[in-house]
Amino acid sequence: MAKVGVFVCHCGENIARNVKVQEVVDFAHEVPGAAVTEHYPYMCSAPGQQLVIDAIREHGLDRVVIAACSPQLHEPTFRAAAAQAGLNPHLVEIANIREHCSWVHRDPIAASAKACQTVAAAVERVKRAKPLDPIEVPVTKRALVIGGGVAGIRAALDIANSGQPVVLVERQPSLGGNMSRLSETFPTLDCSQCILTPLMVQVSRHPLIELMTYSEVEAVSGYVGNFTVRITRKPRYVKIEDCTACGDCAAACPSPVANEFDMGLSTRKAIYIPFPQAVPSTYTLDADRCLNANLQSPTGFRVLGCIRCAEVCKPRAIDFDMQPEVVERRVGAIIVATGYDLQIGQQARECGYGVYPDVMDGLEFERMLSASGPTEGEVRRPSDGKTPADVVFIQCVGSRNPKHGVPYCSRICCMYTAKHALLLRHKVPESRAFVFYMDIRAGGKGYEEFVHRAMEEERVMYIRGRVSQVYEEDGKLKVLGVDTLSGKQVEINADLVVLASAMEPTDHGMIAGTLRIAADEHGFLKEAHPKLRPVETLTAGIFLAGAAQAPKDIPDTVAQASAAAAKGMELLSHDALERDPTTASVNQTACAGCFECLQVCPYGAIERQEVRDRQGNLQRYVAWSNPAMCEGCGLCAVTCRGGFIDVAGYSDEQVFAQLGALGPLPEVLGR
Ligand code: FAD
Ligand code: SF4
Ligand code: SF4
Ligand code: SF4
Repeated sequence: MAKVGVFVCHCGENIARNVKVQEVVDFAHEVPGAAVTEHYPYMCSAPGQQLVIDAIREHGLDRVVIAACSPQLHEPTFRAAAAQAGLNPHLVEIANIREHCSWVHRDPIAASAKACQTVAAAVERVKRAKPLDPIEVPVTKRALVIGGGVAGIRAALDIANSGQPVVLVERQPSLGGNMSRLSETFPTLDCSQCILTPLMVQVSRHPLIELMTYSEVEAVSGYVGNFTVRITRKPRYVKIEDCTACGDCAAACPSPVANEFDMGLSTRKAIYIPFPQAVPSTYTLDADRCLNANLQSPTGFRVLGCIRCAEVCKPRAIDFDMQPEVVERRVGAIIVATGYDLQIGQQARECGYGVYPDVMDGLEFERMLSASGPTEGEVRRPSDGKTPADVVFIQCVGSRNPKHGVPYCSRICCMYTAKHALLLRHKVPESRAFVFYMDIRAGGKGYEEFVHRAMEEERVMYIRGRVSQVYEEDGKLKVLGVDTLSGKQVEINADLVVLASAMEPTDHGMIAGTLRIAADEHGFLKEAHPKLRPVETLTAGIFLAGAAQAPKDIPDTVAQASAAAAKGMELLSHDALERDPTTASVNQTACAGCFECLQVCPYGAIERQEVRDRQGNLQRYVAWSNPAMCEGCGLCAVTCRGGFIDVAGYSDEQVFAQLGALGPLPEVLGR
């Protein structure tokens, strides 16, 4: 007969407020097999864990039930405590009486009765548990970083500086991301390029970083410590090693197109360098815009028409026959740093974006403010090139309002709007700046002071209220709104309107699908735990950095990138990893070979295996679950119609015993 110890936690008031802990302890005492029942205010604390350890040793317990919070939070804590007392950690079961009972039921009697049932079910389950040993997998000592913005750059440098090789994949022709578009950065007003370019150069020169720009991750397979990544390198049609970035080709190219780096405010040529400080410092031929593009044959790019760039290129760096290249890399850890885009939604259009040329978004205004931008840093109206006198800045466009955009706060707009207004006043001292805001969120170091500087020193006029309409009249943009502090209608004749639009994850977070990691309803990549595991994902070995996870400014992005790098380095510092043995196993003698399990496994853990007779003749194929890849989700087990798959720790015997204990609600407090 198993000797089970049941330990009930109060979780301070979290559990005890709604669940009658003593009743649960008394009830547990009567469950067959429960040898010891204890309770403690904080079971996860050091004395709480010690109580469990002492009880295991003193009473020779061979199974443990912890009635506390979600196993996601403290299952590892109590498994470690059990191991310290000499008990196999998989003989510990968590009864979640916080999230499942006290937090979700108002009636203490119902909550307590359900807690009693939950504990009884856990005891029945753990009595049938078998000891399990961890699975050991080797670690490939190389990291992959996806995204070459400031987050990816910082993470790649940190890992490489620790001595581990890194593959950095950026889909644009250059490193830099959105930070390379910025003019000066709040709150210190450093020139963005000046602080970013040295880091970009460090990446390109680092002997341990393999930089793949103009490349995309197509597929990822494998598991923590052993991922295989397929990367497509798009053809640049320019040989990086030969190009001297002289620019002769662009000067000769007859095909101008909108320059995406300048947010469409300038033009570039079909052969171009995104910006002067680009890394790698090389030109790229945009096949979609090249005049030869229409002449593309099914076998690839062929030169039949314009070859002016090739004619003027002295080092003969242009190669029209370049093809996409697919490469594979094995890596142990992955950091996702794919960043953000600005949303052009309904509210932006209502504010005249896309309708009037003098309504622009924040990144467009950044390019205008930037010395390397389309106006060389001068503020001018896109419509007529004149210097604007009155500029209206509108915050929270699309943010904090699910009816018109997204419900969340984009976090950085209050600050960059203050910066925009301040820089406008520096560059055009006779101008007037108006800011429509809902409230000011300036939580970072030196941020509040920065906003006050814009308000007081630069006399930027802040109007608390929403803009209802923007329309054009007599060559001016009329901005109508309400000042909610005075309750009065406000009408401003503006020369230029700048919108602080909502930030959203790049490609709405589509990278989550490629990596099989979770994203929230907006596409921001989801962390394993918002407080305790903020840079990890629920898929072991994949970490998050920067604005791909949530809207962030540069200091927070860089801090998180270093945190993600530290997690990656910790993983790569091991030669082998221990994995949770809660994995599936197939009864191969019985397996019918239908491979429905293979179809449903979200981790690609099921493989076909040959069965041969003694003479080596192929008899049939059966399923095999790779324990190094299986995450123990159980989908295959419930899909297999023959019931030939078991997940360790979730045998039919255990699950049915657990369900069997959930009989009628026990009598609690005289019910
Ligand atoms: P990003 O800069 O977006 O970089 C992501 C990179 O990943 C990009 O290079 C992208 O091409 C690449 N990528 C995306 N998907 C893939 C893929 N599938 N495969 C490969 N590569 C991919 N912050 C401040 O602290 N101070 C400021 O003054 C400031 N001003 C701002 C002004 C404006 C108008 C805006 C909108 C933001 C401002 N910010 C400011 C915020 C700052 O831009 C961000 O904090 C920072 O850029 C986030 O860096 P990141 O690397 O996470 O993302
Ligand atoms: Fe590079 Fe040749 Fe163009 Fe010069 S002309 S930038 S070397 S591709
Ligand atoms: Fe075999 Fe079951 Fe998988 Fe079908 S579903 S291949 S029977 S293990
Ligand atoms: Fe795949 Fe089955 Fe393991 Fe889930 S339990 S990861 S479906 S093999």
